[in-house]
Amino acid sequence: MFSLFYGLWKYAFSKTEFHVLILGIDKAGKTTVLEKLKSQYCNVEGLPADRIVPTVGLNIGRVELSNTKLMFWDLGGQPGLRSIWEKYYEEAHAVIYVVDAASPSRFEDSKSALEKVLQHEDLQGAPLLIIANKQDRAEAASAEELSRYLDLKKLDERLYTFQAVSAIDGLGIKESVNWLVDAMERSKRTEMLRVRAGSSSV
Ligand code: GDP
Repeated sequence: MFSLFYGLWKYAFSKTEFHVLILGIDKAGKTTVLEKLKSQYCNVEGLPADRIVPTVGLNIGRVELSNTKLMFWDLGGQPGLRSIWEKYYEEAHAVIYVVDAASPSRFEDSKSALEKVLQHEDLQGAPLLIIANKQDRAEAASAEELSRYLDLKKLDERLYTFQAVSAIDGLGIKESVNWLVDAMERSKRTEMLRVRAGSSSV
């Protein structure tokens, strides 16, 4: 009887944990986004921008909201490191894809890396938040301009949005998290991952 009540209590009060991948080519601002997320949602200071070094392996960040826990995986974006991304796809509920909106010369690289991500079957149905980062820079493309440029096809079935962000000053970070949580709660992929986790623990 105790275990039944304990199970119900746990079900009612335990927080759902979502895993979110932060991807994008090198220098897009992935780690700066992660540090800003940590500083806005946790009682810790994020690393100052001048102490952030390029990610070679993986940076992890945990954020706790009122009824949700978010675990972020920030993966290195240099061409030689992008092959590691797919090792994390199966477990991911959603993807944040960071683009340096102030570097049009790298849009093409960014677009083709993103297209590869979207084609991978292990990420089917994962909600996608595309961040047009570095909005504090005058030359940055807006979220709408970036969406026109990337012109992503076959996104109809997937929940996705473009968000203007400045990871340096925090613009758009809360809006990004709100959208992500809502999208992951509604996503069929979340249901699929829940069923899979349940059946593997039996
Ligand atoms: P990553 O390789 O994608 O993880 O990129 P980093 O987070 O290491 O950032 C690469 C460079 O872009 C660093 O010099 C950051 O300070 C800078 N950067 C990141 N986000 C912003 C932003 O929103 N605005 C500006 N102006 N610079 C940024």
